[in-house]
Amino acid sequence: MKKALHPTEKRPITVVQYIQLFGPKLDPLGKRRNRPLARCPACNEAMHPRGEADPEVDGVFAHKPKSTAYCPLKESAARPYQILPPTNPDLGKAERLRSAFFLHWKHHWKLIRDYAPFADIKEFIALIRHADQQRLWQYRNIQELEVPFIFLVLKDFPPIKSKGKWLRKEWIRFWFDSRVRSVEDLWINTTGDWRIVKAIYAVPRKKDVVPGPAQLKSTEVPPLKLNFLDKVEPAVHPYQESSMKAAFPEELEA
Ligand SMILES: [Zn+2]
Repeated sequence: MKKALHPTEKRPITVVQYIQLFGPKLDPLGKRRNRPLARCPACNEAMHPRGEADPEVDGVFAHKPKSTAYCPLKESAARPYQILPPTNPDLGKAERLRSAFFLHWKHHWKLIRDYAPFADIKEFIALIRHADQQRLWQYRNIQELEVPFIFLVLKDFPPIKSKGKWLRKEWIRFWFDSRVRSVEDLWINTTGDWRIVKAIYAVPRKKDVVPGPAQLKSTEVPPLKLNFLDKVEPAVHPYQESSMKAAFPEELEA
């Protein structure tokens, strides 16, 4: 990975920045320097710089080879996030949440496009249908502002081409940090201080293959925009608006 988290601060750093801050591997006497270790943005485990002495290659950070800690970035292609049937659902709250979501659907859609540029409106519609099927709205602790972040981790965002031109060449996948292994863990295993990690993958050569750790190119820890519902209603392309109205006529009738 090109970037890891600073050893003690919440910001990502490159290997070059790491060396600027903590010095090269060996001190002037040729002894190994005792440096604090950078951390993985997803699992918080220590990460070592690799290739730092070779000016010809970009240094990367790697997990300790023997570490057995769960880390989503080491996971294979299988989608890890499931929406298990909500236990003890709150049906009244679920209905109010779903109505609020449709009232603010443009805010939610803009948030998704901010994190996954050029996402397609059809992907958004499919995510809402998936949420309906899996009864996402019924989770007792779910808040409206969490919905689009949960949407982001539920699917991959493969590259997008339009009229023969790449709009986005990267394959994007979002992960919650490693405390969250199923959606419900958001409320069980964190105290609202969860992170989201954006992983960028190279597209596998073979068709119909979903990229895994071998294709991982870089990661980012994008800042959480949690106040997006307080903003002015964003403008939406007329095609996107009509697609939503066609998909959800009852919810969006004027
Ligand atoms: Zn990790």
